[in-house]
Amino acid sequence: MDARLEAIRDTVLARNPGEAEFHQAVVEVFESLGPVHDRHPEFLEAAILERLCEPERQIIFRVPWTDDAGRVRINRGFRVEFNSALGPYKGGLRFHPSVYLGIVKFLGFEQIFKNALTGMPIGGGKGGSDFDPRGRSDAEVMRFCQSFMTELYRHIGEYTDVPAGDIGVGGREIGYLFGQYKRITNRYESGVLTGKGVSWGGSLVRPEATGFGTVIFTQEMLKTRGTSLEGQRVVVSGSGNVAINAIAKAQSLGATVVACSDSSGYVVDETGIDVALLREVKEVQRARLKEYAERRAGVSYVDGGSVWDVGATVALPCATQNELDGGAAARLVRGGLVAVGEGANMPSTRGAIAVFQEAGVLFGPGKAANAGGVATSALEMQQNASRDSWSFEHTEERLTDIMVGIHERCAATAEEYGEPGNYVLGANIGGFVKVADAMLAQGLI
Ligand code: GLU
Repeated sequence: MDARLEAIRDTVLARNPGEAEFHQAVVEVFESLGPVHDRHPEFLEAAILERLCEPERQIIFRVPWTDDAGRVRINRGFRVEFNSALGPYKGGLRFHPSVYLGIVKFLGFEQIFKNALTGMPIGGGKGGSDFDPRGRSDAEVMRFCQSFMTELYRHIGEYTDVPAGDIGVGGREIGYLFGQYKRITNRYESGVLTGKGVSWGGSLVRPEATGFGTVIFTQEMLKTRGTSLEGQRVVVSGSGNVAINAIAKAQSLGATVVACSDSSGYVVDETGIDVALLREVKEVQRARLKEYAERRAGVSYVDGGSVWDVGATVALPCATQNELDGGAAARLVRGGLVAVGEGANMPSTRGAIAVFQEAGVLFGPGKAANAGGVATSALEMQQNASRDSWSFEHTEERLTDIMVGIHERCAATAEEYGEPGNYVLGANIGGFVKVADAMLAQGLI
């Protein structure tokens, strides 16, 4: 790493102790930015990096609620409003027991660059809670969401901060959150949240967008090598919203997705995952993936283990951070891996990324490859602002154009900085320069 940036990195890490994931996200970005600072000494002079690493505002709050047995429960809520140089803070809410400030800050930090890459006018933020929705009744989830919004409402707004979903937050949760916001504020402010239901201000394609976008980006990477997804053997990790839609899109483009996973194990389905059955098990029944194997002949279920042990030519990590380490990466490379598209945020460890890059595998980092979700959220905001709703075809076309554009921007930036094909460098520099320019223009704030 560039010596000037090393000193800034050390200060950032020391100021934010105990936040391993945030450190990882910062270091990964800093490793790409040396050449930018050679060309733009004004960024160093204006302390753009130091400012970027310090969120504009961080909110932590108590979320009290009662469970179905009448017992009082207390969770912690977070919203980190990281950077508003390009637009209102934008980013999802994650409800998962692993959530703490370090996770929210890593996600918010990544979101700044991701959102910049989309070309849409959105800043970066993220939030969530250590609440675990698994095993909770609808009524419990509703009471939790209402309590969460009873504090959050005062910090958000269509021109201020626009949350959406992430792990553990889907259409059901967004509905409860929106209802409570509307009730407290007495405003039908559609643009305050995205990921809404289509009949009350949501956008078609938003549910599919992250998974679809990841596959579109991966297809664009493959095209640079004169190939495509047609005939590829694909392994996807996860079986939530992103994974399911990545599987559907990859198969529609002629690939065979032979495996996917949840936190308990994985299924191997050599003839290709049956998306309708997977949706039924995961989205309707909210059951475990094991159920999928029990309901379909010829499918094996592996309890525990790593889905990356199933060889593939294309890997789409769509579960969670640090789910794919250097060892798994090396096994995948030995098995003939050609491309990786990250549907999740920071699923590959730094060791894994090094293995992929060393082996010449096409590697699409999450902040570029999974930007289709937030980009379509921005399209939802556009529809809300104009009180309009677009057709599926039109919205999907916009999403495709945006993903192709992000790929082009990353590829062109990598080329410009002398490392063609390095999408990590292209995404980090491409996102950073846009935000840094806006911050410079807006003065010392
Ligand atoms: N949570 C998603 C992400 O990681 C989407 C955020 C949004 O739509 O605001 O980008």
